Amino acid sequence: MSHQPNPFASEGEWLKCALHTHSSVSDGTLPPDLLARAYEDAGFDVLSITDHWRIAEAPSTDRLLTIPGAELGFDLLKPAYPRQSAEFLVWGIDHLPEDPGGDRDNWCFNAEENWEVRTFPSLTDGASWAAGLGAVVYVAHPYWNHLSVDELSSAQGFTGIEVFNGSSEAVDGRGDSSPWWDALLASGRTVFGIGTDDQHYPDSDLGLAWTMVKAVDRTQEAVLDALRHGQSYLSHGPTIHHIEATDEGVIVECSPARTVRLQREQEHGTSVVMGQAESGASRILATDGDGLITRALLECEPDFVYRRVVVVDERGARAWSNAV
Ligand SMILES: [Zn+2]
Repeated sequence: MSHQPNPFASEGEWLKCALHTHSSVSDGTLPPDLLARAYEDAGFDVLSITDHWRIAEAPSTDRLLTIPGAELGFDLLKPAYPRQSAEFLVWGIDHLPEDPGGDRDNWCFNAEENWEVRTFPSLTDGASWAAGLGAVVYVAHPYWNHLSVDELSSAQGFTGIEVFNGSSEAVDGRGDSSPWWDALLASGRTVFGIGTDDQHYPDSDLGLAWTMVKAVDRTQEAVLDALRHGQSYLSHGPTIHHIEATDEGVIVECSPARTVRLQREQEHGTSVVMGQAESGASRILATDGDGLITRALLECEPDFVYRRVVVVDERGARAWSNAV
């Protein structure tokens, strides 16, 4: 079993982060300064503009910390037709390689839509380049990119994956990559999750999902450090207020929820559902005036491989914790 540091027990401040967004520097619609203002107005604390193979410059403001990032490509070792390449997100960089060394047949320069793709020969090569800069790498939308679990499992050097991408979900229902996460976690690997909106068109996709990061202060270093160590959870609706491991299992406090679940290896998970009989020792500990769950105990024997919390609200929106 793997024990992760618990962000709900650590010092710091919760920051609402947009970690995968596009500006008019690539195929987004708003220029970087207006995009920063839009995220500030939407109540975000942190913004990384992750344009395709370009670094957008947007200065931080009093309320919004900006972190330079990009969305970069890599060749798939075993391409799943018709895709030959997939993508990763990187934060904390100050330059990009002119020639990352991948297969030029997979490079693409689309002048009309203002985006380009270059590739590293593999995800491991891209992550290794980023590590040399002290940057942090999470793999973008594995489901949407047709990235196989085998190929993801064989790659090294990335810290986490984009578990939920709001735009992919809205466009074609391929936004939820949590099965990829479960496969990695079940193999005993430490890998963290983020949620993003992958914003291109602020009127329709800004804020579709986000990542809450527990950072010791409002600096780039603190946010990157929190992402390196999984001091975070992701959501497209619910708030997780507290998670605590006890001898019996895991106690969760959250915004009003229909279901609170402990997801584990194989079929060993458990859940409590509003208005339904409880199973085993898992039970609802508190509800709001409408009967929605605000505190629950999820039973778990001590011999788990991994366990993570999922909170589902009345509308079906979810929040996902990292492994507990
Ligand atoms: Zn993107």
